[in-house]
Amino acid sequence: MSFSQLGLLPALERAVAGEGYVEPTPIQVRAIPHVLAGRDLLGLAQTGTGKTAAFALPILQRLARQVPAGRPRPIRCLVLTPTRELASQIQDSFATYGKHLPLTSFVIFGGVGMEAQCQALRAGMDILVATPGRLLDLSGQGLVELKALEVFVLDEADRMLDMGFIHDVRKVIRMLPRQRQTLFFSATMPPEAQELADQLLKHPETVAVAPSATTVERVDQEVYFVEKADKRALLVDVLRDTAMRRVLVFSRTKHGANRIAEHLAKAGIGAEAIHGNKSQNARERALAGFKAGKTRVLVATDIAARGIDIDDVTHVVNFDVPEVPETYVHRIGRTARAGAAGMALSFCEVDERDDWRNIEKLTRQDIAIVEGHPYESRVSPAPAPRAPAAPRPAPAQKPAHQSHSHGRRDLPAHGGAKRRRRRNGRGGSSAPA
Ligand code: AMP
Repeated sequence: MSFSQLGLLPALERAVAGEGYVEPTPIQVRAIPHVLAGRDLLGLAQTGTGKTAAFALPILQRLARQVPAGRPRPIRCLVLTPTRELASQIQDSFATYGKHLPLTSFVIFGGVGMEAQCQALRAGMDILVATPGRLLDLSGQGLVELKALEVFVLDEADRMLDMGFIHDVRKVIRMLPRQRQTLFFSATMPPEAQELADQLLKHPETVAVAPSATTVERVDQEVYFVEKADKRALLVDVLRDTAMRRVLVFSRTKHGANRIAEHLAKAGIGAEAIHGNKSQNARERALAGFKAGKTRVLVATDIAARGIDIDDVTHVVNFDVPEVPETYVHRIGRTARAGAAGMALSFCEVDERDDWRNIEKLTRQDIAIVEGHPYESRVSPAPAPRAPAAPRPAPAQKPAHQSHSHGRRDLPAHGGAKRRRRRNGRGGSSAPA
């Protein structure tokens, strides 16, 4: 399926071609025709699946059919999203995809001055992307007029509820005209989200996409069996590899994320943590530094990392093995974005072995075990036959591992660490040591 088969305007096709998109993603293939036809939509999809374009492209097309003359332009599309990072990214997408169309978009969120936002609202716009709190503040000042609204998008509904925004969301919904098209996106559907969807949507089409298996297949994956107490030292050790340029480390807890970032900083590795306890400003600063390549390592909790659009993450490190196997797929999907190859390293301690087995079952992947690394757990990982582990060197000898490359699976591992495939019991190392 190509973009041209989706019936998009040439101006939109040109814009996506300009972004280097070759073909639509599954959610785009399935959602775009319904949205173009004016249907309500329930989209079950994570960030990273291409969902923003799945709604932004057809919305732009619908709004471009009839552009109202005169000023100020009435708001005809409202996108509500939980965080300001997401809001900015979505508005950027509207601006990028709509650059050959005579439509305007604007973003409003909290934590910054109001004046520019007030001015923009007075001047009017076709598309408004907003976080709920600031939208309500500005609406309280009589600046938000939604009478002419044609399309309403509720993005990341489950996360919105998780962050306690339900009352704000309901207030916003009361401001909307009844006659409208509604698109509801959520990665998961807990009962509260389902209830909200039932209230909002009229005869919706449902489109569900799993995080794409092809993404997972493109990610080169390895597991390190390691004792819990050695994980931070192992992380410092693997980061000796300069191929690990932009690394996203996942921690199960906020406290853990802080401790990892502090440990890395002490070891002289540029690292920042992002999670829900950090202020918006701190999160934005950390993210900007990471995107600009100033901070090499970003340590994040799952909820904080969701929805952050960072291209060119070379490596994902699962410092903790996630309990829910799907989370693993979501995490490693943060590398190998937009066609690039990526790499995922997982640190598995004894207590996480069952979780790890569930991940292997879900992904049906042949995940290579790194052997002979300096912090190798002495507890046998699996019943499969294995070569004797390399003796564990004293800390002073640690650089032995330093030349093990995480760049590509077929590169030889020089430094004594070797990998073997476990699943099929071949038992040999996949890279000569
Ligand atoms: P999203 O799920 O909307 O956050 O999109 C994830 C990433 O995929 C963004 O960086 C988009 O720029 C990119 N993307 C969206 N659609 C496509 C496509 N059809 N081909 C390649 N990349 C895409």
